[in-house]
This record gives sequence, C-alpha cells and structure tokens, in this order.
Amino acid sequence: MTETGPLDNMLAQMEQAREYVDIDDGIFERLKYPERTLSVSLPVEMDDGSVEVFEAYRCQFDGARGPFKGGIRYHPNVSEEEVSALAGWMTWKTALVDLPFGGAKGGIICNPKELSQSEIEQLTRRYTEGIRRIIGPDTDIPAPDVNTNPRTMAWIMDTYSVYQGYAVPEVVTGKPPEVGGTAGRVEATGRGVTIVTEETFEYLGTDIADADIAIQGFGNVGSVTAQLLAERDANVVAVSDVTGAIYDPDGLDVEAVGAHVANDGRLEDYDAHEHISNDDLLTMNVDALIPAAIEDVITVDVAERLQADVVVEAANGPTTFDAANVLKERDVPVVPDILANAGGVIVSYLEWVQNSQQYSWELEEVNRDLEARLTTAFDEMLAAYEQKDIPDLRTAAYTLALERTADAHEYRGLFP
Ligand code: NAD
Repeated sequence: MTETGPLDNMLAQMEQAREYVDIDDGIFERLKYPERTLSVSLPVEMDDGSVEVFEAYRCQFDGARGPFKGGIRYHPNVSEEEVSALAGWMTWKTALVDLPFGGAKGGIICNPKELSQSEIEQLTRRYTEGIRRIIGPDTDIPAPDVNTNPRTMAWIMDTYSVYQGYAVPEVVTGKPPEVGGTAGRVEATGRGVTIVTEETFEYLGTDIADADIAIQGFGNVGSVTAQLLAERDANVVAVSDVTGAIYDPDGLDVEAVGAHVANDGRLEDYDAHEHISNDDLLTMNVDALIPAAIEDVITVDVAERLQADVVVEAANGPTTFDAANVLKERDVPVVPDILANAGGVIVSYLEWVQNSQQYSWELEEVNRDLEARLTTAFDEMLAAYEQKDIPDLRTAAYTLALERTADAHEYRGLFP
C-alpha cells in the first residue's frame, strides 16, 4: 500500500474530524490552504571559499487567532509540502491549547551534520534576511525545531535586530536566557510530553512507576522526556537516534546516555546492554511508545506489529493517517502530537509574553502555567472524546481546534 505524505495526512485528519463539528463549508475550505509560503534561496560562502545555494521556506498556515508561531528545522527532507503540514499542525496545536497564535513553520533543506558551525551561522543569518519581511514580534515568531536550538534563535534575533536598529528579543522564542529566553523553555516540550504521559496513564489506570517505556529519538524532546520519566520511576527500556537504538529490560541509565549524546556521541557507539534497530524499538512490548524523532515513522506495516499499550506522539506527525486507522481497529490509543508536544509552544508563548512586558518569571511559575494549560487541554480533549462519541483522541482534539479556528474566522469575516 502506498501511504500519503504529511500534508495529505493532515488534510485527512481534518476531514475525519469535520464529521463531528459544525463548520461552515466556506470556512472549512479556507482552513485547508496555507495563507502564504515564502520560498527563498540562500547563497552561502562555505569554509573552503566555494558558494553553495540552499533552498528554504517559511509557511504561514492560518493567522485568524493571532500572530503566526512555529519552529524552524534544518534537515535534508525539508520540502514545501512538509513545512505546510507542520504549519497546519501548529495551527491546530495553538488552537487546542488555546493560545492567541496562528500556525507557521520554516525549514532549510540542508544536512547540518555536514556543515561547520560558521557555515550554519551564515546560513541562519541569510535565512533570517530572506524571511525578515514576513516575520516579526507581532506577525510571525519562529522557534527551534529539528536540528535548531537556542544558539540558532540567538543568531536569528541578532540578525533581525541589526536590521531594526535595536534589540527585538520577542521576534523568536527558545532563545538563551542571556538574550531574553525564559526559564524552562529548553525542557518545555519534554516536560509537556511527560505531563501528558502521566495524565494518559492515570486515565488508562496504568501505574507510571515501573512502567516500561520506549522512546524513538534522543534529541531535545526525547532526552528530556526520558530523563523526566525516569525521575518518576518509569523504566525507560529503549531509546534511539538516527544511528540505531539501545535496549535494557531493567531500564537504561538515562543520565549516562544523555552525557554520551551531549558529547556529540551517537547511540550506535554507546556501551549498551543490547543494540537493536529503530524498527525493533517501535514494535516492542512496552506500556508506552513515545516517537520523538520525525514524521511518518509509524506506518501501516509498523502499526500492524506494534505491541505498545499506548502511543504518545512527541514528534509531529509520527503516525500516518492509514496507520492511525490500523491502531484504532486494534484498540491502541494514540495521544495526538498537537496535544502531547504542545508544551514547547506553551512555554514559547510565556517567553513572548515576558519579552513583551520586559519582565521575567521564575521557573516554578513557568512550569505551573505549563502544567495548568496542558492538563486543561487534556481534559477538554477527553470530554469531547466521551461526549461526542468520537472514535479516537486525535479526532476529538481536532474537533476543538477546528471549531476554535473556524469561530475566529466566523467573527472576523471575509475581507474584502
Ligand atoms: P532534535 O534534532 O533535537 O532531535 C531529533 C532526534 O531524532 C535525534 O536524536 C535524531 O538522531 C533522531 N532521528 C532523526 N531521524 C531519525 C530517524 N529516521 N530514526 C530515528 N531517529 C531519528 O529534534 P527535537 O527538537 O527533539 O524534535 C523532535 C520532534 O519533536 C520533531 O518532530 C519536532 O517537530 C517535534 N517537536 C519539537 C519541539 C521542540 O521544542 N524542540 C516542539 C514540538 C515538537
């Protein structure tokens, strides 16, 4: 069976949810298309003096509820289709957790592993120059995503500020604290995944202590999630990166794995109890599987063999639409990405609010606000799931997100 790409997956998810929510036809039609996508080419002088041109995008999907918001990724698989899907998911995510934002996403087609720090800096600054016409603290606020980090955000903030003539920290979130970043942003997505996993276990009646958990991807999101779940006495039995997975039935020493990876280490080189493949990890018998790498990893083939009791989607779009239907038939609940990984954008919102007020909050206050917003959204999703007799959690989450975005369009009307 040929499975569709991320944009078709997202559109199919929207169509599925539409059955359970009353949205005007014209408005639903508007929700299917990105408002705009800027495509830029970025000439960069490489360390050896040669010039390479990179292609990049910034997609602004829907801004009815507020300024556009969404991450920037550096990856060879970036495409216009991928950024559109990711920008759409950002739109539904900000609506689901009720932030006053729309959804956007950007990306550069590149392999950062093959670039030096100085080449990545030039590329980032040139990209910022390319998209500065459409980003800004009141229009579109980027953040980190795959292969970008606080350092990248500081370069974007600096380049944008140079053009403005004064410092504009609120043009990006996920910055280092030294230039206006908030306490708790680096851990926010993983903390959110952990909170959602705890809520899910409580709902399913599973004890988190000693629960076996497998996590695909050990970057920002995967490593923080692993660490926080281990702190709650869960058994993180397997984690992976792009080079492969490591497994220990008694639970990995998450801190030691983290130290290895922080040192630029690859998991294939880690001195592990057992090395397994990413496919083994995705199909192992665990209480929860947490995909935290990239999209489309749970395909129909994987879904048919998956043995986890529940899937908590930390990555964006890890389960294809067809695979989600297989899991539904097999009664495996899937906690959707637009809720499970929303911790990042919630704390990004808190960073933006602090920057706008030129005021900073303590970590405890940030974490308290994150938890309150996420658990409210979790409860609202469950209420929709149970009251409207909706077949799965993702569809329930989408009904709320689509309804809120459609209502904003309804009130604002169609101009001209
Ligand atoms: P990252 O670059 O820090 O880490 C990505 C990890 O995935 C790395 O360990 C990498 O080796 C692994 N990986 C990449 N390709 C893989 C493959 N084919 N198979 C197995 N592992 C693979 O990225 P991140 O920021 O942790 O983001 C991970 C996911 O979470 C992405 O889907 C991203 O969109 C999503 N997300 C991130 C944030 C955030 O705040 N960083 C917020 C919301 C959602």
